[in-house]
Amino acid sequence: MGCLALNASFEPLTILPIERALRLVIDRKAEVLEEDDARFYRSERDRIAAPLVIRLKRFIHVPRRFRRQVTNTFLFARDGYRCQYCGRHRAALRGREFLTRDHVLPASRGGDNSWDNVVTACSPCNNRKASHLPAEIGMHLLKQPHEPNYVELVWAVRRVTQVQAKYIAMFYGEDILEALRRHDQEAEHRHHLHHGEAEHRLTLVS
Ligand SMILES: [Zn+2]
Repeated sequence: MGCLALNASFEPLTILPIERALRLVIDRKAEVLEEDDARFYRSERDRIAAPLVIRLKRFIHVPRRFRRQVTNTFLFARDGYRCQYCGRHRAALRGREFLTRDHVLPASRGGDNSWDNVVTACSPCNNRKASHLPAEIGMHLLKQPHEPNYVELVWAVRRVTQVQAKYIAMFYGEDILEALRRHDQEAEHRHHLHHGEAEHRLTLVS
């Protein structure tokens, strides 16, 4: 388990390894909002409870390109591991089929890698679409792609605790938290169906 790090504005930024969070606290760069009373770390002078939620004392500007780079890992997680054209889940793909990144406006026609121009597509759908716009060949997106918030992404690949979830809800609202919980339950369900996938999920965000 890691420590949820909030910006000075209380915006959830990332999940840090506990040791890195402790370093920020010891260096007085962050304050502890929640800690784990059952887990302690030893510093030169005393014992410190493991921080679960910290808040940076100074606001840091995190460039969007850092926070929200579109990797296939995040892209597939955002789309629920489902082809956005035929709707098939990764677990339903056959033989040599696999999930790919599709550019809605094709790269050959100037489409970029932004969140609202890329979707998860199975390899047959991607081949079929080729350098067309979906509408040109009668293909339809399950949903319009959009840029997810950072915590949605973190949650997609890594669990947070109840205490940490409270702070996510504080910033993003209960609706987001509910949506994330559903996502998590689906993921849990998939874990039982499809063991390898959930294992994969746990190793992705650092
Ligand atoms: Zn498909």
